[in-house]
Amino acid sequence: MSTKTVALIAHDGKKDDMIAFVQANTNVLRRYNLVATSTTGSRLHEVCDLQIERLLSGPLGGDAQIAAQVAEGLVAAVFFFIDPLGKHPHDPDIQTLMRICNAHNVPLATNPATAAFVISEKAL
Ligand code: PGA
Repeated sequence: MSTKTVALIAHDGKKDDMIAFVQANTNVLRRYNLVATSTTGSRLHEVCDLQIERLLSGPLGGDAQIAAQVAEGLVAAVFFFIDPLGKHPHDPDIQTLMRICNAHNVPLATNPATAAFVISEKAL
């Protein structure tokens, strides 16, 4: 059993999608150390019985914290549900997280359809 980390992040317009994804995949996610940005983690805490460490909110550095964990080799996969219709003051951090995932070849699912593949293909 892996003890690697799985990171969960959702922009406001995608938080309901993240909740549905986590509820549908609780048994797989339970095997990992789970981290989330602050508001995403709070929303998940309300509806799931998973242990999820809450980092800073995305706009205050949560995405950057997760990027650092990815760079350190601690993260098995990042589920980052991006709202392409939203404006994000922390866009540089979003780009950093995606770039670091690509630099380190860490699975990065930015929408629910991709997330379903990543979790079902046992890529974790
Ligand atoms: P949040 O951060 O979970 O604190 O809303 C997510 C983000 O906007 O990156």
